[in-house]
Amino acid sequence: MNRISVAQPKLQGNERKYVLDCLDTNWISSNGKYIGAFEEAFAAFCGTKHAVAANNGTTALHLALVALDLQPGDEVIIPTVTYIATANAVKYCGATPVLVDVCADTMNIDPAEIERHITPRTRGIIPVHLYGHAADMTPIMELARKHKLWVLEDAAEAHGAEVQGQRVGGIGDCATFSFFGNKIVTTGEGGMVTTNSDELAARLRLYRGQGVDPKRRYWFPVIGYNYRMTNIQAAIGLAQMETIDASLAERQALARMYDEALAPLQDLLVTPTTRPGMHHVYWMYTVFLRSGGEQEREAVMQTLEANGIESRPVFYPMHVLPPYLEDGKYPVADEWAQRGMNLPTHQFLTREDVDRVVAVLAKALGR
Ligand SMILES: *Cc1c(COP(=O)(O)O)cnc(C)c1O
Repeated sequence: MNRISVAQPKLQGNERKYVLDCLDTNWISSNGKYIGAFEEAFAAFCGTKHAVAANNGTTALHLALVALDLQPGDEVIIPTVTYIATANAVKYCGATPVLVDVCADTMNIDPAEIERHITPRTRGIIPVHLYGHAADMTPIMELARKHKLWVLEDAAEAHGAEVQGQRVGGIGDCATFSFFGNKIVTTGEGGMVTTNSDELAARLRLYRGQGVDPKRRYWFPVIGYNYRMTNIQAAIGLAQMETIDASLAERQALARMYDEALAPLQDLLVTPTTRPGMHHVYWMYTVFLRSGGEQEREAVMQTLEANGIESRPVFYPMHVLPPYLEDGKYPVADEWAQRGMNLPTHQFLTREDVDRVVAVLAKALGR
């Protein structure tokens, strides 16, 4: 019986050809034609004026925060349910991530909870588009305007997700993406910052490349970083962008197969919701037990594993992790994160695979 993995990249377009081109032409470092081409293709995909490539999604987040001039002592509002890189990037700047509870249906930051966490030190909000469903950007942008805060979208998990017909990446002041091996678009390791601001784009490029003056070699007006992407990474990324429409369509089709196959288990499991006006891109098809807790979820995941099916738990909320530990002020995250799991979500899964996953799930749930 084949093992079904939770994620798997698909590299069946021009990835190999473009990587070989890098090797054959000796352009393997962070100069070369694929970087600009990938940035342009990605900006066009997001509908933004600029895209600035970085070497991973975490450095993209840090770079964006540096470009936004985040300073020690500042505060940034983030959801408690996210991948830890969101919180860590704020810490890298000496600033404080202020955690906010999430909505039960999407696990995204709850806009109704944001305002009471705003203080005179708050500089911005980082909504995370978790598992492929965009955060509730309309009220978030209204709040940000009202309080003069910037918004950085952490879109690491949501390439192509939409809010009222607009793709993520250009809704906030800037957005960051990840191209890790398990993300919707991959370059192995890689990241991107998108923005419509010329000024922000110039700062992103300055700080990405050690802070070197673009017009004067070895002249460094600021302390920058080496967060550059290589031509090899960008070569893979450009090929990935050539097949992105098909990739997204395959993920939609997979989600519909899961929806259908899981319909008889609706009394036991909550399947993904898509809010009105949103377009979900299903980075991870995520289900929640209607009752029980972490133990019950672990038992289900062990049964899946014993049957050759990999799954993953929903992220632990930041407020239960040692670096960000706080006492229970996050009832939705506390109740739901421990009941959630990501089912295998990638482009090689067949109807038979989906049926097998659902049959084992049904057995694990006592059906
Ligand atoms: C993957 C991810 C990141 C970090 O990206 P890396 O490329 O792994 O550094 C940041 N935020 C979220 C929400 C992610 O899922």
